[in-house]
Amino acid sequence: MTYDNDNIFAKILRGEIPCIKVYEDEQTLAFMDIMPQAPGHTLVIPKEAALTIHDLSDDAAANLINKVKLVANAVKKGLNADGISLFQLNGKAAGQTVPHIHFHILPGSYLTAKAHASVSSDPTELERIASKIRASIELDSN
Ligand code: AMP
Repeated sequence: MTYDNDNIFAKILRGEIPCIKVYEDEQTLAFMDIMPQAPGHTLVIPKEAALTIHDLSDDAAANLINKVKLVANAVKKGLNADGISLFQLNGKAAGQTVPHIHFHILPGSYLTAKAHASVSSDPTELERIASKIRASIELDSN
């Protein structure tokens, strides 16, 4: 499969549709999942156009996992989460619904979380949670 430049995360990266951002740098964007499987469900995506992990360059893959760690630390700290689940789906057969590689950061257990991409959350509530994550990223970089 080829990369679809009109997938929803490509549109978010181009600023064509909004997101509730928690972190951004030259290679990475992190934002709140609009259908969180638990409060604080956050996505981290590379800016490189890649459908799955199999398509991502080694450089982008190395950067991405470092930024997943940075944002996961902030989610854990900002939301006082006892545990954090990370997951990442590659291909429709694996359940991937948005064809631009991303990591999911989920406070608590993936095993007992809500169903995947099922219930939209109130944007005000997402923003309230995002502000705590942002504050923790800033604190970590001090
Ligand atoms: P996956 O099935 O692994 O590709 O996950 C895609 C994730 O993107 C799901 O958890 C969706 O809830 C989430 N999602 C879909 N559209 C948006 C959007 N516009 N902004 C934020 N998250 C989204």
